[in-house]
Amino acid sequence: MNSAVSIESLSFLVIDDDEFMLDIVAMNLNHLKAANVATCTNGCEALARIDNGESFDVVMIDLNMPIIDGVEVLRSLAQRNFPNGILLFSGEDARILKTAQSLANEHKLNVLGALTKPVVVNDLQEALQAYRPNTTEAPQKLFEPITVDELYKAINEKQILPYFQPQVLSRDKSLVAAEVLARWQHPERGLLAPFHFIARAEELSLIDELTWSLFEQAIEQFGRWRTMGTNLSMSINLSADSLGTVNLPEKIASLVAANHIPYDAIRLEITESRLMKNLKTSLDVLARLRLKNFGLSIDDFGTGYSSLAQLNSIPFNELKVDRAFVHGAAADPAARAILESSVMLARKLDMTVVAEGVEDQSDWDQVEAIGCDLVQGYHVARPMPADQFEQWMETWNERTIA
Ligand code: C2E
Ligand code: CA
Ligand code: CA
Repeated sequence: MNSAVSIESLSFLVIDDDEFMLDIVAMNLNHLKAANVATCTNGCEALARIDNGESFDVVMIDLNMPIIDGVEVLRSLAQRNFPNGILLFSGEDARILKTAQSLANEHKLNVLGALTKPVVVNDLQEALQAYRPNTTEAPQKLFEPITVDELYKAINEKQILPYFQPQVLSRDKSLVAAEVLARWQHPERGLLAPFHFIARAEELSLIDELTWSLFEQAIEQFGRWRTMGTNLSMSINLSADSLGTVNLPEKIASLVAANHIPYDAIRLEITESRLMKNLKTSLDVLARLRLKNFGLSIDDFGTGYSSLAQLNSIPFNELKVDRAFVHGAAADPAARAILESSVMLARKLDMTVVAEGVEDQSDWDQVEAIGCDLVQGYHVARPMPADQFEQWMETWNERTIA
């Protein structure tokens, strides 16, 4: 451990809905001589304290809480670019902790570890060894939540741009499509991944404006690429919130037609359990999109947000297996079983299968052997801005033709 940091000098915030558990954790921390321990019984209260300027060196989060769960707290902390230490704990099985930990890592949060309940002193002490003081003096603005004005301006000024990630056939590696992924080129905060602003745009009811701006930019780009002789299809993410707009199919159709793109070259990717809440309008919109021959893709399949029930009620024609069951599947029998059954299911329902998160050769070999149609992931290419994508396309095509 960095000898400059001792547990006594750190301030802690512990979040757990179970007060008995809070007492146990606080007791353990006291045992380790931590003097400054605050507790909260729900995530909203914890976030409010942070937003009010209280500073904590380590935030300990229980993953299962009723009001907002630990995963949401993680998301909110990432939106605030929370720079200090995070310790996760949960009574659930180790796999959930593992998933939450990789999620937090992906959000670039500073995760010290993941502990199973009941939290014991030794584990806690060991995890805290990983604590390093945050030395980056980031401007205060980075920690402030995104405001309506800020986001509204960004959308209007086209600071939010489409990046493109290729999808290739597993059969012969030929390029057939690209997924549009939002990036915010923020003048002060830098290049932001969707994680930092999509959920916030939904909260602020600006997601329709955001999606539409991105849609317009991306469709125009695809129109240009198609006139250059490529036959690319385009996948774009639709927030479940946007499915409440009854005239969405018509709006999309006229934009797509104006750019001389056939409807079946556009695939709309949908996740989220919220879909089921406003079921009537969502189903109406989705059915009409499909009737017009737009592709509908069920995203993140296999996670809590994408369920079998949705497959039964919505006319999806593409299934995207979540990367949790793709990357590392060769060495993980449980992931492989889910991947295999998803492919079987998709075959029976006459759907195309996309494997996302193919990061290395062994992932590729696995999804090819299992029979996924399309492959997307870092092993092929990362998401890129339009000009880079164009260059990439040329070299890839030369390589696959050769
Ligand atoms: P998604 O739809 O599941 O998109 C795939 C995500 O996986 C992208 O993250 C992509 O960069 C990442 N990815 C691709 N290949 C690999 C790989 O091999 N390994 C790993 N570890 N990751 C890979 P990104 O761009 O950060 O987007 C995150 C999520 O944000 C998307 O997940 C999507 O749900 C949402 N999102 C992105 N753009 C939009 C948008 O315009 N509208 C809406 N509503 N949501 C969006
Ligand atoms: Ca997607
Ligand atoms: Ca996905």
